[in-house]
Amino acid sequence: MVLGIEGTAWSLSVGVVRQENGETEEICEVSHPYIPEKGGIHPREAAQHHSSHIADLLRRVFEKVSADEIDAIAFSQGPGLGPCLRVVATASRTLSLLLKKPLVGVNHCIAHIEIGKWETGAENPLVVYASGANTQILALKQKRYRIFGETIDVGLGNALDKFAREVGLSHPGGPKIEELAKKSSKYIELPYTVKGMDLAFSGLLTSALRAVKNNPVEDVCFSLQEVAFAMLTEVSERALAHTSLDEVMLVGGVGANDRLSEMLSIMCEDRGVSYYRPAKKYLGDNGTMIAYLGLKMFLVGIRTPLDESSVIPGFRPEMVEVVW
Ligand code: AMP
Ligand code: MG
Repeated sequence: MVLGIEGTAWSLSVGVVRQENGETEEICEVSHPYIPEKGGIHPREAAQHHSSHIADLLRRVFEKVSADEIDAIAFSQGPGLGPCLRVVATASRTLSLLLKKPLVGVNHCIAHIEIGKWETGAENPLVVYASGANTQILALKQKRYRIFGETIDVGLGNALDKFAREVGLSHPGGPKIEELAKKSSKYIELPYTVKGMDLAFSGLLTSALRAVKNNPVEDVCFSLQEVAFAMLTEVSERALAHTSLDEVMLVGGVGANDRLSEMLSIMCEDRGVSYYRPAKKYLGDNGTMIAYLGLKMFLVGIRTPLDESSVIPGFRPEMVEVVW
């Protein structure tokens, strides 16, 4: 049984996962998300939030599972906000020393992918990972998740959140933009910025903010979604052609958006490939995914010694050899 702690940004969450007779089972998950009072995610405030609540979350977990059932402590080692990662790493090291159980440092992006594969049954998908800070198109090749295309400035979720904030909607803005976009079908031209296999969202964001000065906000939300999601779909389609994979899986918090999911599924249908999207509770950041990947890594003998347990804010998925 492995306990996993997630806390790379807004989500502070502890999950416990166990494997028995080859079957993986979720035991429990407790979470306490950081919701900024105003503005976006402030790294130091988020870290303060995490350090105020982590002990209580762990206490709640240990009401449900007994400490001696735990075989290892998994934690999200990166990528993420440095101050938040440090709180999680410190709590995990403390727990590891206290319970005398090994640590397993987990790459947060890969955790999204692995739990998605587990839940959807996808075997070897092209992964479209769209979250707050990250936007990447990846696939497993020669034992590493390689990035075929990614944002060269901000993550898609962060761009949506920033737009929402500037027009007076509360954080997180993604779901609110989705609701407003449903009320419109009027397309306002916005810059489409695909550069090779990479994407850029900051120019699109600036133009959308300019457009909202003389257009209804619903129309701008609709157009912003259409452009951003079409960009992501185009790069995904080209990555699919390049890799010859026959599955696509959408993960990350922005994956909750039905319009994005629809665009990707239409593209997959046109190409005759299978399309997968995990249940909403696995799309955003959660402790269960960290426990799940931690368990997979633990079972093949991976351990993170204390002196290698420093946080890695720029932890890229291809830095991890996939040996599980
Ligand atoms: P994550 O970092 O993976 O937890 O994802 C968080 C991001 O997902 C935030 O930027 C949210 O605004 C975004 N998000 C959540 N739900 C939706 C939605 N329905 N449409 C677009 N973005 C969303
Ligand atoms: Mg994430």
